[in-house]
Order: sequence, then structure tokens, then C-alpha cells
Amino acid sequence: MLTDTIAAISTAVGEAGIAVIRVSGPDSISEVERIFHSKTALTEAESHTVHYGHIIDPDTQERVEEVLVTVMRAPRSFTTEDVVEISTHGGVISVKRVMDLLLQLEIRLAEPGEFTKRAFLNGRIDLSQAEAVIDLIRSKSDRAFSIALKQVEGSLSQRIGELRHTLVETMAHIEVNIDYPEHDVESLTAEFIKQKSNEVMEGIQKLLKTAEEGKILREGITTAIVGRPNVGKSSLLNALAHTNRAIVTDIPGTTRDVIEEFVTINNIPLKLLDTAGIRETMDVVEKIGVERSKHAVTEADLILLVLNASEPLHEDELELMEQIRGRQSIVIMNKMDLPSQLDRDLLSRYYPDELIVPMSVMTEEGIDLLEKAISSLFFSGKLESGDLTYVSNVRHIALLKKAYKSLQDAYEAADQFIPIDMIQIDVRLAWEQLGEITGDTAAETLLDQIFSQFCLGK
Ligand code: GDP
Ligand code: ZN
Repeated sequence: MLTDTIAAISTAVGEAGIAVIRVSGPDSISEVERIFHSKTALTEAESHTVHYGHIIDPDTQERVEEVLVTVMRAPRSFTTEDVVEISTHGGVISVKRVMDLLLQLEIRLAEPGEFTKRAFLNGRIDLSQAEAVIDLIRSKSDRAFSIALKQVEGSLSQRIGELRHTLVETMAHIEVNIDYPEHDVESLTAEFIKQKSNEVMEGIQKLLKTAEEGKILREGITTAIVGRPNVGKSSLLNALAHTNRAIVTDIPGTTRDVIEEFVTINNIPLKLLDTAGIRETMDVVEKIGVERSKHAVTEADLILLVLNASEPLHEDELELMEQIRGRQSIVIMNKMDLPSQLDRDLLSRYYPDELIVPMSVMTEEGIDLLEKAISSLFFSGKLESGDLTYVSNVRHIALLKKAYKSLQDAYEAADQFIPIDMIQIDVRLAWEQLGEITGDTAAETLLDQIFSQFCLGK
């Protein structure tokens, strides 16, 4: 139980219509009452009621501010403690005068994030929910806000809870076996451990997948359009931008020849880079265009290699294909409206068929195939737009990876009939690592580190 009462200004400090000071703790109502005059005493006030009155300096009996005071009684508040919120006039002086009086009472200044920390320590929210409160405050887009809100509501906590539950069951099962180590039971237990480890590993993998998707949804897929001069790179960029209503952003500076555009294909944001402007604006050797492309390739999440289907495959193109091997990439056979000179069979030798898209930017035939190829590459064709449970916190991602590794160890140990009590250690480790995400097994220093990221008054 936390026994002290804390206060902080909870609104941004500066010129504003109103400012809110939040007070939380067992003495919050009785202490604020000492400097507040109104028709009804706060100590008599019902929970969730608002009271008009004045803040009075107890020494001079001077009226300091005209305020509205909201009372929220435990446990129905953000911290689950008695909470008083004082709405004052906005502006630095007004808030400061009220704060000064509060801090002369049995109330101390809250540390950054201390209200949220109390909500956590009092069991109202878990750690991943508390962290999502930071994301909520910091979110810059509607999408990021919705994702954070979902996490505040406990969507991630619930998934983690389910996975940990499976592990607890597994540990209980192992425990029984350690007590009765008959031989046939032991091999059954090994099977059981393998099955359960797999189950939880799959769950973790799913969550990690959302981390990738979450990053893509926030930042877009950096996509390089590469290829030899004149194959239709700029035309493709324009066509995609046109059908997907992009904003043109010509990046100034050193890379004047790189043109960048944002487009959205089946809900997936792409940041398209056309890398070949150089050959078109200046009469430089072809090779330079190719050099450009090579550089862009190393930076990109996705590579669109454009070929001219009305010409045979060029050796530069073979070189490019060699370079993008193992990367997320799609080969576009452009200009299919012209008589074909490109040997598709030869191409197939270098590239999987499902990633070769024949099309014509000019007639726009095949653009839909390209869009389909892109979305299936990144979301296996099924972006669940309704489900907003995304793991985006780096701490969570790291812990999920650790827990996955621990379970992999458990699985392999079970597979090799290593003594069960040894395997138990790995399973327990995974259980603890997942518990660190929700704060069930988090150390004090970690908590301090997390809550110190908050702003004052939250
Ligand atoms: P880049 O140098 O790779 O950027 O190529 P451009 O986009 O500038 O296109 C080079 C030329 O090919 C232009 O004259 C385009 O109009 C033409 N072109 C682009 N796509 C097609 C296509 O699908 N069919 C035909 N016939 N011409 C195309
Ligand atoms: Zn171009």
C-alpha cells in the first residue's frame, strides 16, 4: 500500500484556457479540503462529482484562485487511489500558486509517470499497458494512436497472459513427473513439452510478425525501382502514384536525381524511390545509372527490378539480379504491349515465377498483378485491418525473442531426452521473460527506467 499523497500539474504548462492539477493518495481529499472553500465539504462529496469554489491561502485567508474540483474516490480512479483534480485558470502563475499551496500540505510533488506507476503498482494496469500510455501521448498519427489505445485496453496483455498460462500448465505437468519419475511417463512428458513449446513458440512468432507489420504501417516500405535506362522506371512510378494518389516530394540536396513518392497499395504504404533520373537529365554514361541503382538496392526493403520485355536480357540486368538475390524483390517485365524479345524461360532460371510480373505501364495492363504481388510479399495477402494488436515496443520485441529462444532450447532438450528438471529451467525462463513484458516478473530498476520516460503529471 502506498501511503503518501502526490500532486503534479497534468496539463501542458503555458498559456491555455485551463490547467489541471492532479492529486492522488490516501490523504488527497482531506488535504485539498484544507485549502478549498465551497458550499459542500470535499470530505462529504460523493465520488465523481465536480465542485465550484476557491483556493484559499490558509495563512492569509486570501483567495488565490477560482477553481473547479473533481473528486474520484478509490478504487474508481486512474491510480485506484482517492484522486482530486483541480481545474484552474490556464497560465503559469495561476497553476504555480495553487501548486505551491498544495506542496505546503502533506503532499509531495509527483515524479514523472508516478500516477501511471501507481496505477501499475496498485494492479489496475500491467506494464505493457502503462508503456502504451506513453505511446498514446506520443503518437503522431491516427493509426499509431489506435494501436496504442488498443494496447492500453490490454490486448497485448491478454495474449501474453494466454501464452504464460500454457507455460504454467506445462510446468505443473513437469513438476508431477519430477515427483514420480517412472520411465514411460518421462518420454510422454518429453512429448508433452515439445508440443506445448511449439504451441507457445507459434504464438510468439505471430506477435513478432505484428512487429514487422506495425513498423511497415508506421513508416512505409522503402521501395527502390531499379533497372537500366529507358525500361520504364519513371513511368511506373508515375503510374503507381497516379492510381494511388501520392504526394510528390522531390528530395532536394545531394540526391537530386532520386525522386521519392508515397503511395498506398492495398492499405500498405510504400515509399517509392526512382533512382535513375541522372541518365535522363545529363548525358552521362549508362553505367552511372546502374551504379545509382546498386546503391538504392542496399537501402531498400523492397526492390522492383524493371526490365524491358521488348529487348533481350542485358548483362547489367543479370548483375542486378545477382545482387538482389535473397532480398524482397519483384521483377517487372515491362512493355509487354510491344513484340517480346525477352526470354521468359531464361528469366525463370534466375527468378521464381510468382515474383515475375509481366505488364505494360503504358496500357496499365498488369498493374493490378503488381499490386497483388507486393501485398502478398508483405502480408501473405491477408492484412488484418480490424485487428490492431501490434507489438511495437523494442523492449517487448526483445523479450519475445528471448522467450522464443528459451522455448527452442526446451524443445531441443526434450527431443534429446535431457533430464526433465533441466528442461524445466528453460520453460520457467520463457515464462519469466514473457512476464517481464506485462511486469509480472519485472525488477524494480526496470520499472524506474520505464516510468522515468513519462512526462510530469501523467
Ligand atoms: P526510365 O529511364 O527507366 O525511367 O524509363 P521511362 O519511364 O523514362 O520510359 C522510357 C520510355 O519508355 C518512355 O518513352 C516511355 O513512354 C516508354 N515506356 C514506358 N513504359 C512503357 C510500356 O509499357 N510500353 C511502351 N511501349 N513504352 C513504354
Ligand atoms: Zn526515369
